[in-house]
Amino acid sequence: MADSIRALQVNKTDKGQSIDFVTLSDADLGEGDVTVAVEHSTVNYKDGLAITGKVPIIRKFPLVPGVDFAGTVTASTHKGLKPNDKVILNGWGVGEDHNGGYATKARVPGDWLVPLPGNMTTAEAMAVGTAGYTAMLCILALEQHEVTPEDGDILVTGAAGGVGSTAIAILSQLGFTVVASTGRTAEEPFLKSLGAARIIDRNEFATPVKPLAKARWAGAIDAVGSTTLANVLSQMMPEATVAACGLAQGMDLPTSVAPFILRGVKLIGINSVTCPPARRLEAWRRISRDLDLGKLRALTTHVKLADVPRIAGEIVAGRIRGRVVVDL
Ligand code: NDP
Repeated sequence: MADSIRALQVNKTDKGQSIDFVTLSDADLGEGDVTVAVEHSTVNYKDGLAITGKVPIIRKFPLVPGVDFAGTVTASTHKGLKPNDKVILNGWGVGEDHNGGYATKARVPGDWLVPLPGNMTTAEAMAVGTAGYTAMLCILALEQHEVTPEDGDILVTGAAGGVGSTAIAILSQLGFTVVASTGRTAEEPFLKSLGAARIIDRNEFATPVKPLAKARWAGAIDAVGSTTLANVLSQMMPEATVAACGLAQGMDLPTSVAPFILRGVKLIGINSVTCPPARRLEAWRRISRDLDLGKLRALTTHVKLADVPRIAGEIVAGRIRGRVVVDL
């Protein structure tokens, strides 16, 4: 049946929520002027939180989760997009209050879509996914604040995860010396193969936070938050920049103003969800230029839609290495 759409759907139940594999019709897809045949989606940390129900990410039921997807336009009344165009979707509330990527079709406003860079396949775009696009937004923030390879070492926390591993691959390609903070020291060969110069045990950032500590980092990308980010801030060099995008350890930030007023440290927040279109386009342009596709392959695993609930549990438990692509 041309109209039949395979999907993973989250429904509200008395006890919380259920994960169901369902068949939808075109009419179930929701609002939007562009329909996309989804070829690949991914499992991001936020998808893990949404599917496990650990945090109330989903704000409308029933909902197809999946905060990102890539595929081919099948129908469009949007002026910039036509059938057969290849497109990418990241964020904008997709997978939260608008049906997302865990379905063979999706419908969204065309303004949310980014054209697939010419040198990438939809599978490669989703190997990057929202985590990798966010890593690039972090790198753009460091560049905007004039962090250069000559300034010193760049720290990446949550290194073996999706944001961290992609950030390492891109930063090393750009000539930065990258130090990877991980709780999985057995992943040292993997992290070095992506371009990390050194590995550091993440427990070093779990200690009580001093207002200022020895200045070690010219820049940092933090996917972890909480005590880790607070310790990172106290270890930044004068005028250094931290791009903070994540909360894998926690939402809190037990810091003081010391790094900001005594060292001029800049803490830049990264929000990929409603990031303006021009910066998205720039991020994807730079990903297509600066990410070695061989390294991308090395950090990517492919799974089927049926595997998503299991992977969701694993990512929330911090057990996923690199990126997981869902083949629809
Ligand atoms: P992953 O689960 O792939 O990576 C997170 C990594 O953080 C883990 O692999 C682990 O790295 C580390 N980690 C996990 N738990 C802890 C802990 N308790 N203490 C210290 N470190 C921990 O997730 P993603 O890379 O996809 O996402 C990372 C973060 O970025 C998430 O919080 C996510 O929500 C956020 N994010 C934010 C976006 C935004 O727009 N701001 C967009 C995309 C992601 P290791 O094993 O190496 O120590």
